[in-house]
Amino acid sequence: MDLEQLTKRFRLKGDYHTHTVYSRMGFYLHGKGRIIDNVRAAAEKGLLELGITEHGPWDFYGMAISKIPEMRNDIAKAVKEFPLVSVYLGVEADIVDSPNGLDIAPEDFSKFDYVNAGYHYVPHSGMIMNWLSFHIPFPAAAKEKLRRRNTDRIVKALTNNNIKILTHPGDKAFIDENEVAKVCAETGTLVEINVRHKHPDANDLKIYAAYDNRFVISSDAHKPENVGRYAKSLELAMEAGIATDRIVNIEEVNA
Ligand SMILES: [Zn+2]
Ligand SMILES: [Zn+2]
Repeated sequence: MDLEQLTKRFRLKGDYHTHTVYSRMGFYLHGKGRIIDNVRAAAEKGLLELGITEHGPWDFYGMAISKIPEMRNDIAKAVKEFPLVSVYLGVEADIVDSPNGLDIAPEDFSKFDYVNAGYHYVPHSGMIMNWLSFHIPFPAAAKEKLRRRNTDRIVKALTNNNIKILTHPGDKAFIDENEVAKVCAETGTLVEINVRHKHPDANDLKIYAAYDNRFVISSDAHKPENVGRYAKSLELAMEAGIATDRIVNIEEVNA
């Protein structure tokens, strides 16, 4: 089945990973659209559900917890205008060296509808070594040590917290895919197939699929026009041989 046939046959129901201008550093806007712009884009693409998930507060472009009331207010206004879309306030927490393994503290979890988690180049995440490991030749032993540490941190974050989606595993940090796949299955964390990032790729996905995992496709949109993008990830899932009923947010439309 070619890509056009695939996207005609399967549609995306919900996008649970998108960014807006609340992901920013001072005046620099990392996410380009406002909340209402993402909601409008979701409505135009016929999505039933949309998640606003800014970067965690330790990120250079991270959201501020103090902004949550304003964000909730923006969501309420947007939903009045586009009532067919259910909009959730989530967050893309950073996996870091902290007591619960994230930059969202346990007492802040209830302020969000759900929490996603992923690796980024942020302070207290081993960012310098992780960045270098993707950009310069790295001695095998050092790489292995890094892989071990990154994997341990994911295991800690997923077992200590209720995480909805592990975002782009294997991107921005080398990991042991088998071990991460196992902990996702044990904790019921959805494995993300991310439209924007290189990992997980088809080979990685085959490892995740070998365990009792369910998958989710995310646009990871940083601009409103990218909300609801899914074709590339769907194609990747097919390449990896993942049965479509294991992907929680797609639906067959033209059987
Ligand atoms: Zn991310
Ligand atoms: Zn993201």
